[in-house]
Amino acid sequence: MNLNKCERCGCFFTSKNQVCPNCQEKDENDIKQLKKFLNDSDVDVSVESLSAQTGVSIKNVNRFLKDKNLYNTFTSLGLNSENNNNISISL
Ligand SMILES: [Zn+2]
Repeated sequence: MNLNKCERCGCFFTSKNQVCPNCQEKDENDIKQLKKFLNDSDVDVSVESLSAQTGVSIKNVNRFLKDKNLYNTFTSLGLNSENNNNISISL
């Protein structure tokens, strides 16, 4: 039996998810909210302004973006993630 630490509340739980069952629902609500915001927005949105305007923390947005499917969904809806920290630009 493996114990995981919840990425949201820090409690320990036993499943393969990133968050505990209590926070699973919060994650789903956050994702729904982010998708809705991106859907309604006509312009490209950065991770920072997405976080600021939806109230979902940057930490959580970045965690969702680690999921390839969510990343593709969010970017196809107009999320501009090129300022993300896994891409470094040197001029
Ligand atoms: Zn939790």
